[in-house]
Amino acid sequence: MFRKSIKKMAAYRPGEQPRPGQRLIKLNTNENPYPPSPRVRRAVAKAMAGSTIRLYPAPRADEFVASASRVYSIPQSMIIAGNGSDELLAMVFRATLGSGDTVAYPIPTYSLYDTLALVQEARILQFPVGADFELPLDGLAQARANLTIVCSPNSPSGTSTPTRSLGALAKRLEGRLLVIDEAYADFADENALGLMRRYRNVVVLRTLSKSYSLAGMRLGLCFAHPAVIDALLKVKDSYNLSRVALAAGAEAIRDSGWMRRNVAKVIRTRALSEARLRKLGFLVPPSQANFVLARMPGRDLAPVTRGLRRAGILVRHFATPLLQDAIRISIGTPAEMAALFKALKPLVRASQSKSKSKSKSKRRIDT
Ligand SMILES: *Cc1c(COP(=O)(O)O)cnc(C)c1O
Repeated sequence: MFRKSIKKMAAYRPGEQPRPGQRLIKLNTNENPYPPSPRVRRAVAKAMAGSTIRLYPAPRADEFVASASRVYSIPQSMIIAGNGSDELLAMVFRATLGSGDTVAYPIPTYSLYDTLALVQEARILQFPVGADFELPLDGLAQARANLTIVCSPNSPSGTSTPTRSLGALAKRLEGRLLVIDEAYADFADENALGLMRRYRNVVVLRTLSKSYSLAGMRLGLCFAHPAVIDALLKVKDSYNLSRVALAAGAEAIRDSGWMRRNVAKVIRTRALSEARLRKLGFLVPPSQANFVLARMPGRDLAPVTRGLRRAGILVRHFATPLLQDAIRISIGTPAEMAALFKALKPLVRASQSKSKSKSKSKRRIDT
């Protein structure tokens, strides 16, 4: 019933989403612990008032795009809105990759890229990052893939690539598309929007899911040269954002001061969390995002993740060779982080003594 490539591939696995009423501390999918601007709720109510919801929404997301255009000082012809930046990624893949075409990115990174590439039957070229998660610049440039993607700040490492290096990569790719996934840019010291103005092959993706606290509303923005935007419009669903989402997005961006105050709180908690994790013996690369990657090289942290789950705390563990010795922890409120550390401390001790006896006796204790 299905294409061979679809039968063979595995589905993307999102982090656990609690059922309604389930009380868990949710530090596994990088949502913002603080609510969105109250002005967003009023805009949503207004969008539902009267009977305009009978009508299809603006196909090009006019109100939302106009609001982004003003706030970022970028012409509307260089902006396209998506149902989350996941949809924008899907549009980019659809527009650039056919069967056998190549897509290149550093690993580890956002695993949705694999899924989207497999759907397109594209050839995936993965380039491992360096020991300090630095960009494998030469590999990416020499691969000359049809599409190159760099997530910066990267998930799950939290580390970011200097804009300078991204600019050098854009130049070396000479007209091949470079997508910079900036889902976490509002939590970082710098961003690549300036590169998008300088290089016609640079596409910058943003989302309102993280910094704007609107993961449930599904809003993303793509900034690129008008020629790139025109190509993406061809593969876009006609009415990809609801009227409600468009009103919410437009108002959220107008109140970006609210977002920045929440981001400042998250960044403060991030610094304290990094320090506490290091004190517990974790290696933590400096994060520029709203999460941290906590590593214990050589130790499988799946049992620690399960222990936290039993304590009612969700964090993200990736069962892959590159990442099994790490957990990714979203930054929550100070109270949520206090609960995390209370549960984490005894689990880390238990896992440390277990892994010691494991290596001595060479027996498998934990399966
Ligand atoms: C969260 C995330 C996205 C997707 O954001 P949505 O707008 O919610 O679809 C894209 N890229 C990365 C790296 C992310 O972490």
